[in-house]
Amino acid sequence: MEYDIVIAGAGPAGFGAAMGAARLGKKVLVFDRNSGPGGVAVYCGCPVFSGLRSFLPENSGGAAGEFAHSMKNNAMIWRDTKLNSSEFSVGLNMTRLLRQAGVDLLFYVELTDVKVENNTITSVTVTGCGKHIEIKGKNFIDCTGDAVLTFMAGGATQTGSAEETMTKTLLFRVTGVENYDRELCVKAFEEGNFPFTHQDRFMGTPVGEKAEDFLLNLTAVSGCAQDPVELTKMDMELKEQIPVVLEWAKKTLPGFANCHLVAVAPIIGVRGGRNIVGVENITSKDLQENPPVSEPVAIGKRTYGEHYIKTFVAPWAFWQGGGPREVPYGALRSVNISNLAAGGRCISIEPKAVSAIRLMPVCIATGQAAGIAAALDFPEYSELRKELIKQKCKFEIKKEQ
Ligand SMILES: Cc1cc2nc3c(=O)[nH]c(=O)nc-3n(C[C@H](O)[C@H](O)[C@H](O)COP(=O)(O)OP(=O)(O)OC[C@H]3O[C@@H](n4cnc5c(N)ncnc54)[C@H](O)[C@@H]3O)c2cc1C
Repeated sequence: MEYDIVIAGAGPAGFGAAMGAARLGKKVLVFDRNSGPGGVAVYCGCPVFSGLRSFLPENSGGAAGEFAHSMKNNAMIWRDTKLNSSEFSVGLNMTRLLRQAGVDLLFYVELTDVKVENNTITSVTVTGCGKHIEIKGKNFIDCTGDAVLTFMAGGATQTGSAEETMTKTLLFRVTGVENYDRELCVKAFEEGNFPFTHQDRFMGTPVGEKAEDFLLNLTAVSGCAQDPVELTKMDMELKEQIPVVLEWAKKTLPGFANCHLVAVAPIIGVRGGRNIVGVENITSKDLQENPPVSEPVAIGKRTYGEHYIKTFVAPWAFWQGGGPREVPYGALRSVNISNLAAGGRCISIEPKAVSAIRLMPVCIATGQAAGIAAALDFPEYSELRKELIKQKCKFEIKKEQ
């Protein structure tokens, strides 16, 4: 197999990257170990796109806007600016958009090998059903969430410690919630002897029109998500937490007394851990001090460090300052692999600060910018900017005001 652009990972970032590159007429392949696109939204049971409403086409939102528009006719609800949907609708709509754009899709395959010559990736090998498939490409994009492609290529990466990266969790869904009232639930959570001490705050959201179906995002463990042995241990611990949290919710949360479990996410939700080291690295200091960004490609925010472990969080690990902040072009380009970019939550940022760029619409946007950059062979910023405008991307704060 041979492509212009090869994208590892079909989460929100991989979706954006493929759309961005395909719009420039390139031959594009996106592959994933899962059975379809969507990443965390579909396979960690969290089809909640925070802030997506402002990306709708009338607001010029690039691939995120196209996705939001495609969801208009599906079973879904806007809650404030969030899109709460179903895993099935997210996966189906992303698949349709990718196919319409002419992107080739390959699922059920794990990245197993990367060939590099003179700091340039020449091919990747993926494995599924006992078959190894070598895929050659001109440029590659790491949208694996955890910078797996960059790591395997010997590219520079950075990894946050368990203390400074956000909690790992297993989402579960209940039905039969009556008269949900968020304020009452937050109060009950804070006063209600939650059975696990390391929770920072009440995390839950209704997913059905009448709020009978509810996503509970309350289990949490700490550990290294870049290691399968640790992931296995964390998964077992999280599954033991679920029945305990469910019983606690029934007894404690107003309206939850008659609820029952309907679904548990198939895999752990990892919020952050390993990132590429890019030509430019976003730091927590940048987010706090907010100096101007010279080559913006997407818009994230300045807050970082949400979902921390209450029992041992270091005071410097989270910062609740507000407002938006642009993501620089340099954060998408690997510092030492010449034909590699990244999109989504594994772009170049201090791992403890990753919540500033990890919301799904932002991941679609950084993915799309990486896709455009790779399709144009990593051009000067002025050329990239022209295409970002052409593809109706939201990437400059001043244009929004
Ligand atoms: C529990 C939880 C709750 C969240 N809640 C929200 C929310 O309410 N709103 C919001 O906007 N965002 C939320 N987020 C954040 C958001 O979901 C993620 O930051 C976003 O999905 C990251 O997108 P991504 O494409 O970079 O990575 P991912 O979504 O992680 O996708 C990466 C893809 O790469 C694939 N992959 C990885 N390694 C390999 C490999 N070796 N071979 C093949 N494929 C591979 C994976 O299978 C996956 O499909 C939440 C995240 C978590 C974990």
